[in-house]
Amino acid sequence: MSSSSALWHPQAHMPSVVDDRIVVVAGDGAYVETSDGRRLLDATAGLWHANVGHGRASIAAVAAKQMERLETYHLFGRFANEPAMRLADRVAAAGPIPDAKVFWTSGGSDAVDLACKLARRHWQHAGRTEKRTIVSRVNSYHGLHGFGTSIAGLEFNREGLGSESLIPETLRVSNTDLDAVVRSVEAYGPERIAALVAEPIQGTGGVVTPPEGYLAGIQELCRAHDILFVVDEVITGFGRAGTLFACERFGLEPDMVLMAKGITSGYAPLGGVLIAPRVWEPFFAGDDAPVFRHGLTYTGHATACVVAEENLDIIEREGLVERAAALEPVLRTALAPLADHDLVAEVRSAAGFIAGVRLEADVPGELVARTCIERGVITRVITDNVLQVCPPFVVDESDLASIAETLVESLDDVMVRA
Ligand code: PLP
Repeated sequence: MSSSSALWHPQAHMPSVVDDRIVVVAGDGAYVETSDGRRLLDATAGLWHANVGHGRASIAAVAAKQMERLETYHLFGRFANEPAMRLADRVAAAGPIPDAKVFWTSGGSDAVDLACKLARRHWQHAGRTEKRTIVSRVNSYHGLHGFGTSIAGLEFNREGLGSESLIPETLRVSNTDLDAVVRSVEAYGPERIAALVAEPIQGTGGVVTPPEGYLAGIQELCRAHDILFVVDEVITGFGRAGTLFACERFGLEPDMVLMAKGITSGYAPLGGVLIAPRVWEPFFAGDDAPVFRHGLTYTGHATACVVAEENLDIIEREGLVERAAALEPVLRTALAPLADHDLVAEVRSAAGFIAGVRLEADVPGELVARTCIERGVITRVITDNVLQVCPPFVVDESDLASIAETLVESLDDVMVRA
């Protein structure tokens, strides 16, 4: 499975990768095809993005139609395009923040950068100039732009950059222990904190769902201390949690919600931030309203926005949020027996159509993932030696059974070889 190329891969040890690429050439539902003719069950939905599955012709059709009419037009100053406006209204109406405004981006990391900048801008404008610190959680992943790299709870992503963090004034808190979060915030000084950013279910950090009451508790802590509460729904948004947004499931009403991935299911790069009135109002009224100095050439890219509209139509038409909710217990049941395997420490499947199989620390996770791929199922190793399982919503029960079976066979295989 290799082909030589000038391509430099993200998050890759290139000497190992150049002669060992898996080149994906086509996709159909929950399956993808490689350049050497193999058909693989995509148990990771790519990078957690392919909610509606691969190979949707109707999305390609709306993209082509939009491109023929107008590829895009930027949104700087007075300019706008219709798809960006329509999609903003639709997502604002469906999202967890009443009367929200939407600022579009090109992906999740962009949304993180925007939210952190806007949080700081908000407090500077309000005259609370000491409120600059961004709080995030142990094991969190918020993409790899400047802010995301700096606030991540995954230390290895900050290695070798010449300073502890690209952006100063960050604080990490517990991802599961509410009392510990309260203690950390109070010891640090809430008057210095601009925002707290949290994934409702941590993805890349190892599929970690906090205990009951934790998320509502950190929201309350934010309210009590005038800290903006930012929920990163880049993975959980658009159905993964069994509700359109995980905020619904966990009863959250944040000041900002970050989205990407599932908004287009990967058919075009798009992200965005839902913004509560408390944050947007000062920028929308009065001659002396400040300008938020932020934006990208492709903010609200028209073709990406029509792709998102068709993706949302598919989700509605096919009842895919309900389907993800219905598949959640099926996935949990299918993976449960793995907990008894000698090489498995724990199966994480507390909430959502998403799970992680944590291998014992000394198990070669990369070898297990490679073996799964050889046996026809794509998984990968994320933080804490966890195998990622989060298939497209179009899988059926037999696909989930074969994911579980392949994991067991691959683990057995690795055990025999050890
Ligand atoms: N936030 C979360 C929770 C993510 O999982 C990711 C990507 O996996 C990002 C942000 C970054 O998104 P992107 O890779 O689209 O920039």
